[in-house]
Order: sequence, then C-alpha cells, then structure tokens
Amino acid sequence: MPMTIFHAIIDRKIPADIVYEDERLIAFRDIAPQAPVHVLFVPKQDFATLNDVPEDAAIVIGRLATAAARYAKAQGFAESGYRIVMNCNGDGGQTVFQIHLHLLGGAPLGHFGTP
Ligand code: 5GP
Repeated sequence: MPMTIFHAIIDRKIPADIVYEDERLIAFRDIAPQAPVHVLFVPKQDFATLNDVPEDAAIVIGRLATAAARYAKAQGFAESGYRIVMNCNGDGGQTVFQIHLHLLGGAPLGHFGTP
C-alpha cells in the first residue's frame, strides 16, 4: 500500500497535534477542522479504504470508534453528543487512502446531510 500523509504523521516525519496514541492507533487534530473539535483516529494497521477491511479485522474499526468515544468522554462532550464519519473512495469524499475515523463535536452539528 502506498505511504500516505498519515503514515508520515505516525512516523513523526511531519508534525501533527497528536491527542492520543497507543500501539494500535493514533489520533490527531484535523488540519482543516469542520467543527470545534475535529480529530482523526487512524489505525497503525494498513487498509486503504473501508472496502479493504476483511471481516476478521473488524475489531480495527471498533477500536477507532471506542477510542473516539473515550476521547469525547474525557473532553466532556460525550453526553451533549458528537458525530463519527468514515469516508470511502471518491463519492464518499475520501482524500487520504489510509482508513481513518473523523470525530466531530464541540457544538451542535445539525442534521446529518444538511448543507
Ligand atoms: P478524508 O477526506 O480522507 O475523509 O479525510 C482526510 C482528512 O485529513 C481531511 O479532513 C484533511 O483536512 C485531513 N488532512 C489532510 N492532510 C493533513 C495533514 O497533513 N495533517 C492533518 N492533521 N490533517 C490532514
């Protein structure tokens, strides 16, 4: 799989505002935030898109989601709410081809899909 900007962040080759890391995933602030809190949760195991995640690796996605929820709880906005999003391929708006979960929160986000 080709290297991405997220691999460069994991390898500390480019800087990022890292808010969490463990042996399996890293989380850092999006460079172009779409909400007051916009954090990307990226696994260290390589999958270009959600389409490439086999059933027996589903736990990778679960870990991203639960890490996002833990972060929202720690930051105090889990109860008021937040959104998680994973874009897939062109129509889904994916621009970086290492899977990642967007966590958006910190303000009312409106109805999903509303411009
Ligand atoms: P996608 O469009 O693939 O779902 O999401 C990619 C996200 O990565 C975008 O929201 C974009 O703003 C973010 N992004 C792209 N390049 C960088 C970077 O160099 N650093 C950080 N922190 N975020 C980036």
